[in-house]
Amino acid sequence: MNIQLLGAHNCESQNTKLTSLLIDDILVVDAGGLTSSLSFQAQQKLRAILLTHQHYDHVRDVPVIAMNFFLYGATINIYSTQPVYNALTTHLLDGKLYPNFLEQPQGNPTIKFTIIEPYQIEQIEGYSVLPIPVNHSVPTVGYQVTSPDGKVFFYTGDTRPDLAGCWERVSPQLLIIEVSAPDRFEELYKRRGHLTPTLLKQELASFRELKGYLPQVVVVHLNPGLEEETKAEIAAVAEDLNHPISVGYEGMQLRL
Ligand SMILES: [Zn+2]
Ligand SMILES: [Zn+2]
Repeated sequence: MNIQLLGAHNCESQNTKLTSLLIDDILVVDAGGLTSSLSFQAQQKLRAILLTHQHYDHVRDVPVIAMNFFLYGATINIYSTQPVYNALTTHLLDGKLYPNFLEQPQGNPTIKFTIIEPYQIEQIEGYSVLPIPVNHSVPTVGYQVTSPDGKVFFYTGDTRPDLAGCWERVSPQLLIIEVSAPDRFEELYKRRGHLTPTLLKQELASFRELKGYLPQVVVVHLNPGLEEETKAEIAAVAEDLNHPISVGYEGMQLRL
């Protein structure tokens, strides 16, 4: 399984893109910095998009990719939970700002949306996908994705602490987890539903205690303006845990 980080940040600029992961060129998780990262040729290979939650930095490119697929005369499969579907159909895909690709073209709409249930494994393009609720400010699921040849990663999406219930259900070789800001913002970011390096450390310690191992760890969703400070604190966490932690960046390739 080849995972490419298309976007690894929570704010966009020339050099940073919103969160989006590409798996084996066909599957996408979260659609922040999706279309601006891929050529039209690469976009046409996409088969399915999984969305963790409704926040704009994770769904922004849904209408944009849909317009491109509409112009190819193709359909794109999108999977998420009922709350995400509800938010998209009342805001981003309601036909007010852009065509409603859930209904157009009539009879064969561009977006085929499948509502998935937390804890129910879904088979998507040969991958086994397990959505697991995490603790964010709106309903959010992380995804454990198992490739046809048995490689496994878990991506948390945005989350605050207390993931033990989540760890009990996953056994990834690779964990892609969010850290949004340095420790001095802990109270604020926890309230907003995010992690800081010290909170990451607690979650990784709880993972190790429950599972008896730590997977490869990659951190995403960093605030670019606070990135250097956050990175230094993450390096200290890795040293404390005696386990490497990588900080994700746009274009990073992860192979399992
Ligand atoms: Zn969010
Ligand atoms: Zn976010």
